[in-house]
Amino acid sequence: MEKRKIIILGLGYVGLTMAACLVTRGFKTIGVDMDSEKVAALSAKNCPIQEPGLKELIAEGLATGALELTQDLGEAAEGSQITFVSVGTPSEPSGSINLEQIRSASESVGAALKKIDGYHLLVVRSTVTPGTTGQMVRRIIERRSGRSCGEDFGLCANPEFMKEGAAVQDMLKPDRIVIGEYDAKSGNTLEGFYREMYSDSMPALIRTSLANAELIKYSNNAFLATKISFMNSIANLCERIPESDVDVVAKGIGLDPRIGPLFLRAGLGWGGSCLPKDSKAFLAFGRSLGVDLPIVHAALEINEIQPLSALDKARKALGGLRGKRIAVLGLSFKPETDDVREAISIRIIDELLREASEISVYDPAVTETTRRNLSGRVDFAASAEECIDGADCCIIATEWDEFKRLRAEDFKRRMRRPVIIDGRRIYNPREFEANTEYYGVGLGRTDGGDLGA
Ligand code: NAD
Repeated sequence: MEKRKIIILGLGYVGLTMAACLVTRGFKTIGVDMDSEKVAALSAKNCPIQEPGLKELIAEGLATGALELTQDLGEAAEGSQITFVSVGTPSEPSGSINLEQIRSASESVGAALKKIDGYHLLVVRSTVTPGTTGQMVRRIIERRSGRSCGEDFGLCANPEFMKEGAAVQDMLKPDRIVIGEYDAKSGNTLEGFYREMYSDSMPALIRTSLANAELIKYSNNAFLATKISFMNSIANLCERIPESDVDVVAKGIGLDPRIGPLFLRAGLGWGGSCLPKDSKAFLAFGRSLGVDLPIVHAALEINEIQPLSALDKARKALGGLRGKRIAVLGLSFKPETDDVREAISIRIIDELLREASEISVYDPAVTETTRRNLSGRVDFAASAEECIDGADCCIIATEWDEFKRLRAEDFKRRMRRPVIIDGRRIYNPREFEANTEYYGVGLGRTDGGDLGA
């Protein structure tokens, strides 16, 4: 049976990963992006983002012809059955969602639909606030195409839950599929596609309304953000309690099946392209309906100040930061990705610059864009060892495996003063406390104070 022709509109982390993974399942896939440089780079097999396994899949798809890339949706749309929209949904300065890319993508889809004979399914994969797919997207497409939703084309909201750093793996083996459907025909068409894609390893499936699907995505991210912020508050408390350790507390509560072990790691805060922007957009969305979401608000507030705890520790240990050389290990918001959107490392670097520190940084996956953005303000080291050479303090901002290989001895030998702020708790406190001035997030020090009991 001939496989369906699928269009992916918007080739960022989500769209590109999906396009690459569809190829492995034998679909004819056309990736479309308005960014000509991105399309040219990809066509030359240069993957613009770092994700384990992604580059190889794209190269394979291009080589076999199963994957095609273009800027022209109109041309690509001919003979296609489904279009997945995975354009960006960034924040407005106020925090509310900016739907410009969704608007322009809907206009393009509406124009392209005119050229498609027969039923076509449009699937919004981007994270959008409830009501966006059923109202804004549907209306634009109907107006632009002159076609009618439900009769000539179908509409679904199908949020993506993949994690950067494990995007390919998550896309090939998702823990669930959420289908929000305009009508049963839309839902049946998308379910049929996923059954073809995952065949005998079909994940859990939820079929629901468009608004519910959109709401599930925001609630999901807000809950994850809350879980980490909760543990970060507990970490701050632990630091005032001698002999306490947030990692042990997390392990203890994580064994309660009602809580679960994941997303309980305390650190310097969460970043990335999703949790910060989605939490802010969710708050603003609630506010627009006159509903306060105080827990989401608190999660954001905790995250605002959490990175600063690393600077407080450094300031206290060094007696001020002016003129001090600070090594920052890790720029990306988490390991195995080169994404620095809303990364706490950038927040820390900005604060250090304000306090006139000298900064050396090292990240195994730094992009040219990040290098350009920080050039002249920080020294880029070629390795973790070079980064800590001669430093007065080292802040671990990202838990890359490469950093875990450094021993307390390495810091002691290479640094001017071995003050280590372990913002991701990657080192063994016993080994490090014995050999360096070690401050781990959420680690109660024996000199942490008197509990007054
Ligand atoms: P991104 O910003 O990396 O990529 C968006 C792409 O869309 C860009 O390449 C841009 O050029 C292209 N684009 C914008 N407008 C276009 C248009 N009108 N026509 C064609 N192309 C257009 O975004 P991303 O990180 O891949 O995220 C996409 C969506 O998925 C967002 O809503 C995001 O919240 C959501 N999401 C992201 C992740 C993640 O880990 N990055 C995970 C789950 C959900």
